[in-house]
Amino acid sequence: MCNMGDFDYLIIGNSAGTVGCIEGLRSVDKNGTVALVAEEDCHVYSRALIPYYLGGQITRDKMYYRPLDFYDRARVCVFQGHQAVKIDSAVRVVELDNGSRLGYGMLLIATGGKPVFPPIPGLDKQNVFSFHSMPDLLGIEKELAGARSAVVLGGGVIGLMAAEALHKRGIKVHVLELAERLLAPVVDATTSHLVEDALQKAGVAMYLNNTIDQVHGTERVESVTLKNGQNIPCDLLIVGVGVAPRVELAEGTSIEVNRGIVVDKRMQTSVSGIFACGDCASTYNFVTGTEQNLPLWPNAYLGGRIAGFNMAGMERSFIQGTTMNAMHFFDVNIVNAGVNVTGANQGDGLEVKQNYDSDGQTYRKFVLSENGHIKGFILVGQIARAGIFLNLMRRKIDVRAFQQELFKNDFGYADLPEILRWKLLQDDVILGVV
Ligand SMILES: Cc1cc2nc3c(=O)[nH]c(=O)nc-3n(C[C@H](O)[C@H](O)[C@H](O)COP(=O)(O)OP(=O)(O)OC[C@H]3O[C@@H](n4cnc5c(N)ncnc54)[C@H](O)[C@@H]3O)c2cc1C
Repeated sequence: MCNMGDFDYLIIGNSAGTVGCIEGLRSVDKNGTVALVAEEDCHVYSRALIPYYLGGQITRDKMYYRPLDFYDRARVCVFQGHQAVKIDSAVRVVELDNGSRLGYGMLLIATGGKPVFPPIPGLDKQNVFSFHSMPDLLGIEKELAGARSAVVLGGGVIGLMAAEALHKRGIKVHVLELAERLLAPVVDATTSHLVEDALQKAGVAMYLNNTIDQVHGTERVESVTLKNGQNIPCDLLIVGVGVAPRVELAEGTSIEVNRGIVVDKRMQTSVSGIFACGDCASTYNFVTGTEQNLPLWPNAYLGGRIAGFNMAGMERSFIQGTTMNAMHFFDVNIVNAGVNVTGANQGDGLEVKQNYDSDGQTYRKFVLSENGHIKGFILVGQIARAGIFLNLMRRKIDVRAFQQELFKNDFGYADLPEILRWKLLQDDVILGVV
């Protein structure tokens, strides 16, 4: 039983960043008091599994990110079903939506992201959902019974995940994408076209260079008219056009925000004693050397873990985060990481090496710096060894001496020069914690 009061450590949020923080700080401080405030009234789950649940591949209990007794065992007080509405850093207090106040010694903001809704009238109707949270999942699931047709607004990662899940449930899916190709901000044109082919073969309708002009229906969406005048009847509408960092608690305070909440490599914000991680933060990208929002599960977990160490007094730096997506759309496996160069030869001293095998449906592309370091890569088809490429990228290895080997489908540590092989195999298992 937990009572409101003062805690040594307080966390706002209940997802990857929060779990990372608890595991980090508890490995240093076994006795400090810990509490979290969670707006969603359910046990911690993995958002990445929402499409798998809705696609009928897993059950709800498989979505939990940690066992149900995780917080009890970690001795964490959970204030669930409450929103934190204000941080008063002068007196180290967080105020909740019911007016109660929690004091803290160290605070972590792990509030994640919020789905973006474009300013199209009618997107507030009953059968319109984002594809982001447990309430979305429950709402969509209810609508699925009897649904025959769905419109998915957005042909990016989240939109395509939604499209595939609904398709698996036997629903006719229509994907609308404003850009001229799917997944445009994430992969290059070759990869986009491979995914477009796969959707087409599966019978998913795609409308590129297009979006919703009008939403029809009174309380519920019944159909949408596209910019090109075409009308699509639908039983539900999913909005998957992007996610923005949730920074409202920092706004109007001394906590610096630059799209995400700005943190140093220790994950501390501009206010001493307040840390941030995950989708709400702007963190260091080791490939570009800049601070940016890196909204991915492993970055949130590791950022939280690093924050937890530092909050408990053990100095650690988050220096191995970058963009990396492992995706699977209609039997097309894709892994990409680092910079996404779309042309054959780009400036900035970057060189592109690529190979497309249309028979084997495999595609590999590497972006190399002048000194032979991998700055980014895309693998399509054969993705099993992606971790090795990531390791080469992280360790800034000059790959020029064996760059042809990178294109072998079974490329592995055995293809590396012996000295390098042993150096890499000694890598720390806990990537990113140095
Ligand atoms: C459908 C889907 C699939 C994805 N697939 C992948 C994938 O395959 N690989 C990958 O790396 N990433 C994936 N992601 C992204 C990944 O889920 C996020 O990067 C990750 O969840 C970020 O974790 P987080 O801890 O920063 O915050 P979030 O997971 O966004 O959680 C933040 C939590 O904080 C709560 N909260 C916010 N504000 C408050 C407040 N004021 N008071 C109390 N509580 C609050 C929210 O309700 C939420 O529960 C996917 C995301 C989605 C939606």
